[in-house]
Amino acid sequence: MRQRINAVVTAGFAALSVFAMAPAAAQAPYPDKPVTLVVPFAAGGPTDVVARMLAIPMGKSLGQSVLVENTVGAGGTIAATKVARAAPNGYTLFIHHMGMSTAPALYKKLSFDPMKDYEYIGQVVDVPMTLLARKDFPPANYKELEAYVRANKDKVSLANAGLGAVSHLCGLLFMSQIGVELNTIPYKGTGPAMNDLLGGQVDLLCDQTTQTVPMIKDGRVKVYGVTTLKRLDALPNVPTLDEQGLKGFEVKVWHGLYAPKGTPAPVLEKINVALRAALADPMVKTRLAELSSDIPPSDKLTPAGLKNHLEAEIAKWGPVIKKAGIYAD
Ligand code: ASP
Repeated sequence: MRQRINAVVTAGFAALSVFAMAPAAAQAPYPDKPVTLVVPFAAGGPTDVVARMLAIPMGKSLGQSVLVENTVGAGGTIAATKVARAAPNGYTLFIHHMGMSTAPALYKKLSFDPMKDYEYIGQVVDVPMTLLARKDFPPANYKELEAYVRANKDKVSLANAGLGAVSHLCGLLFMSQIGVELNTIPYKGTGPAMNDLLGGQVDLLCDQTTQTVPMIKDGRVKVYGVTTLKRLDALPNVPTLDEQGLKGFEVKVWHGLYAPKGTPAPVLEKINVALRAALADPMVKTRLAELSSDIPPSDKLTPAGLKNHLEAEIAKWGPVIKKAGIYAD
């Protein structure tokens, strides 16, 4: 059985903006064509939801469309590699979650370096998770779930979005805390995993509220708990996993916006302004609040805010993952 993994994923660092130092030659006519925002998971999932929510207001601020492109597979590492090799001209941007910080320890061979191959634009949003089951899964509540999976561990399936996905980490955390190993089924994102949960092809899924709140509210899935230590405003009747006995169970998923290394500072500044404008958009703010997702404080919406956080997260996860012995083959 894998050793316990403790996940606390929202530590922050004070940040300074480097944009104030951009040279005056910054008046490049950027952008003069649509900008691509690469999402490392399938359409319809939580990362995709956030990207599409931001794309329209960012496009308004930039004066050009921001087109979302889903480049899927290998827990987000295929997209990260592609962006690392893209032209550093501001026309390729990348949104990824905390998988950027776990990939270096999870993958023995990684064809990108999170600390060397990117420019950092800013943190984006912090999103809790929920532990769900297909609607007709027998256990009625978390206590029953624990007993049920212990008794039926060979039959119960747990979906995730691949090694490096937060659904994978959340599932590992759940299994390690209760000391049971289930059959895990990887997808190219939790969008398709959710489709299979709705269709009854898989039993369990741990996923971000950016996808799950509407499903829970509509009663399309069964929910066993939220992964924060406090209940969520959007789901006040759903208990935390912590309060139901999974002591200290806490996963909140941070996200960052990146560009390929070498993207010019004035271009990065424009993108940062667009990111901030999108996160200040009343419709975006309302929607994120409805999904119990938090916009980070202003000092985190900066290159240094993202870079420092990423660095700290890599340092935190490396030893935990090594100790747990989880690697890609
Ligand atoms: N929620 C997914 C994950 O587990 C990613 C996604 O499909 O957005 O990392």
